[in-house]
Amino acid sequence: MSDIIIGIDLGTTNSEVAVLRDGRPEVLEIDGSRILPSIVGLADDGALLVGQAARNQYALYPERTIRSVKRRMGEDVLLPMGDQSYSPQEVSALILKRLKAAAEAQLGEAVKKAVITVPAYFSDAQRQATRNAGELAGLEVVRIINEPTAAALAYEVNAVEPRTILVYDLGGGTFDCSVVRAGGEITEVLASHGNNHLGGDDFDAKLIEHVVAHLREQHSCDPRENAAAMARITRACEAAKIALSDAPYARIDEEYLLPDRDPPVNLSLEVSRLDYEAMIEGYLDETLEAVHTALKGAELTVTDIDEVVLVGGATRTPAIQRRLEEMLGMQPRAEIDPDLCVAAGAAIQAGVMAGQSTSTVLVDVTPYTFGTSALGEMNGMLYPNCFVPVIRKNTPIPTSKTEAFFTMADGQEAVDVRIYQGEDRDALNNTEIGSFRVEGLSDVPAGNQILMRCDLDLDGILKVTAVEKRTGLEKHIEIDNATARFEAQELGAAKQRLASLIEGDAERVDDAEGGADAEQHREQVQAKALLDKAERLLETASAEDKEDLIDLIEAVRDTLDASDMTGLKRSTDALADLLYYLET
Ligand code: AMP
Repeated sequence: MSDIIIGIDLGTTNSEVAVLRDGRPEVLEIDGSRILPSIVGLADDGALLVGQAARNQYALYPERTIRSVKRRMGEDVLLPMGDQSYSPQEVSALILKRLKAAAEAQLGEAVKKAVITVPAYFSDAQRQATRNAGELAGLEVVRIINEPTAAALAYEVNAVEPRTILVYDLGGGTFDCSVVRAGGEITEVLASHGNNHLGGDDFDAKLIEHVVAHLREQHSCDPRENAAAMARITRACEAAKIALSDAPYARIDEEYLLPDRDPPVNLSLEVSRLDYEAMIEGYLDETLEAVHTALKGAELTVTDIDEVVLVGGATRTPAIQRRLEEMLGMQPRAEIDPDLCVAAGAAIQAGVMAGQSTSTVLVDVTPYTFGTSALGEMNGMLYPNCFVPVIRKNTPIPTSKTEAFFTMADGQEAVDVRIYQGEDRDALNNTEIGSFRVEGLSDVPAGNQILMRCDLDLDGILKVTAVEKRTGLEKHIEIDNATARFEAQELGAAKQRLASLIEGDAERVDDAEGGADAEQHREQVQAKALLDKAERLLETASAEDKEDLIDLIEAVRDTLDASDMTGLKRSTDALADLLYYLET
């Protein structure tokens, strides 16, 4: 009998199967995809459908299609499908059988054993029902493990010291967050909290509401009566939501949405990420409150967390990553595909039980953050060289991300795009790896939108494209070996740039800020650099010099705070003179 043990993530929306190969977890393909929709149905001719085929017929034949069976596990019910009814275990067994067959086809041998994951909150009855489903599918369930434990294992398989991991899992229809202690011999869930009816589908619903409101206002029609139109809107809204994870705008275009109307209704709507984020903000707040509750349950605080791990497709939403980072003070980890992470962890557990050696999941990620500079606020002041990350460190590659920027001056004809690699909030402390100028912009007031797209491929080639949104005017550059080339030079170059900044290098201010504004920013930047320098000198200055220094530092600060540019010039000149005198 085969010794192979497969790892299965039996999900509410989707399921996956993985095995350990050469010590590494590998999620196996089923019908060309590594994700099997957890949907079972009967075709016209009575044939059994599992996965995508069942999903395709759901809208047409809901009476002979079953989805989200996981929600019913452990209940004493029968679910109708066509002329017959089935227990939740039986329906789950059909999904498990499909996963088992896919594994056998790819491994070339019979598979008899599995590790299956379940939510941390599953009761004994629900766990037992899952075991029974395995048996019905011809699988000995050698262990049931908690989903957050599996996710933590996928990330921390080699950790020697126990680490405290927050697993934030937001799927299509469920949300869980768990505090897991993993590493060494033990892996355990300390606390778990969530909402069984919150997920990416709710985000879709917000966009759908928005589209329906638009159709009612702009086209005086209500698509909710028309099931086919609603199905198209639903699909388009999910696609738009996914697009908004990588770009600041998404279009929802559906022609002839209501063809019976005269004239036919053509839906064409642009949604901005900002508007979308406002729509889902309440949901995000709720998930963050759950994080606090889980931490409380584990009798821990935010500072006890060593890692935050993202699981579930909806965690690709940038606002989620941003809010978690703000709350926990660390960048959440998402390098393992959040849809496959639990299956990978189940395979690791399976491998451990089969006595195989294990190692971490292999993923290609960018070791650096790439981005550009723009006018922003730093230390309470406007500053022209704020670093704006576009591709964050540890993002799996290849990847493509787009951000929106705005021109600062009326009639601005050109922008300089500078590309930096690094992590510092001040772009000038990062490494500039390329720049280009986009000329011939439209003669429009300030606020002309420029979209900057960064594509990073597996060879480390970074392609940066800037597009004037209103016209499509485009310019791009390619930077070879962006992930490796500058490592050695980085520190020295950054130091040099800092030095030149302190000496008042005026050349660096972005053209995008142009004119009088630029002059003002330059002076403010210079004043700040002088203040830093003066403060450092305070420690070594004589008592008398110290008094003069303090007076002038205060004068510069006051004029800076008051944005009094004439006063600022006078006070910085005086301070510069004093510093010159003190240094010579
Ligand atoms: P899961 O149940 O883990 O498969 O998660 C499915 C949910 O993740 C669905 O609501 C998807 O629409 C959503 N999803 C998948 N990819 C993305 C993405 N790139 N950005 C936002 N949501 C996504």
